[in-house]
Amino acid sequence: MKAAVVRDFTAPLTIEDRPLPEPAPHQVRVRIEASGLCHTDIHAARGDWPVRPSPPFVPGHEGVGVVEEAGALVRHVRVGERVAVPWLADACGRCDHCVSGWETLCTEQHNSGYSVDGAYAEYALAHGDYVVPVPDGIDPLDAAPLSCAGVTTYKAVRVGGARPGSRVLVSGIGGLGHLALQYARLAGAETVAVDVTDEKLALARELGADHVVDARGTDVAAEVQRLGGVDSAIALAVSNESFRAAYGALRRGGTLVLVALPAGGTLELPVFETVLNGTRVVGSIVGTRQDLAEVFRLHALGRTRVMRESRRLEEVNTCFAEVLAGTVAARLVFDLR
Ligand code: NAD
Ligand code: ZN
Ligand code: ZN
Repeated sequence: MKAAVVRDFTAPLTIEDRPLPEPAPHQVRVRIEASGLCHTDIHAARGDWPVRPSPPFVPGHEGVGVVEEAGALVRHVRVGERVAVPWLADACGRCDHCVSGWETLCTEQHNSGYSVDGAYAEYALAHGDYVVPVPDGIDPLDAAPLSCAGVTTYKAVRVGGARPGSRVLVSGIGGLGHLALQYARLAGAETVAVDVTDEKLALARELGADHVVDARGTDVAAEVQRLGGVDSAIALAVSNESFRAAYGALRRGGTLVLVALPAGGTLELPVFETVLNGTRVVGSIVGTRQDLAEVFRLHALGRTRVMRESRRLEEVNTCFAEVLAGTVAARLVFDLR
């Protein structure tokens, strides 16, 4: 099979021929149809974070495809079924986090395209209990971005407490942000979209953002405070400066939801203002299998739009450059069919 492989954190990915992987009794082999390019894959390929993957590895955690072979212990999916292979490759299933609906916090988890080989390949192995069925009628090219960008922002918007009558800021209208904006609108919130490229600001308007703020040469916090501030701000831009701006845009009692993970990301908080304003700052990491099932259901109902362009896996290195330059529609998806 063909796979894109990270061999070195400072070198481009290589396209390689690999043997077809054989599923263990608890695993399925998925014939990948579509595989989304999340900004996390760029962080992974560059070794940006304190915990690094071990090259050689295959990135990709927005994999969607058809189960081709299932191990003897696999029960909840069948051969022929379309499934998603998300970031949460597996978890222990027994710890307090796992059993209380926070499997994404399990300390024993594995992650697709990071600690285990992922979906930048024609085939991927996955745990039969942790793949998530994709409902009929959802295009695999849409399902792929929903598997991380969708579920992550669906969760983050809820963690931020969005509700009718609240005001929500989405910082960064990229792969994650264009979906965050839609989930905030579905929650009934008034939305403020922030980005730094004309294309993404236009996309925010097209998706119905109530206010659009160009962060280039603008004091975002001051401009949003003129609207009365926001009840929650979802930080999706790969920029420490954007975190400070999002924090400064909050109303009293507001919540900053940190999602983006820039290399060496830090945010210094003024204690006095944080205390007196009753500000909450919370990290949010992807979403559970249940969250992803809900994301798929919303999409099947026609409530969300995935803005994406398809590419060939061989173009992976130029695709990384395109994402870093901010010139892509919102999400790039490798079409492996
Ligand atoms: P992306 O590159 O598609 O989107 C980032 C957007 O931010 C772009 O539209 C860019 O123009 C915009 N931007 C850049 N600087 C800005 C600024 N100063 N203010 C406002 N906008 C700005 O990236 P993505 O795939 O959406 O991922 C975003 C981040 O989220 C990455 O760091 C990724 O690793 C992280 N991530 C986290 C989770 C999680 O579970 N916490 C899940 C997936 C991705
Ligand atoms: Zn991701
Ligand atoms: Zn666990």
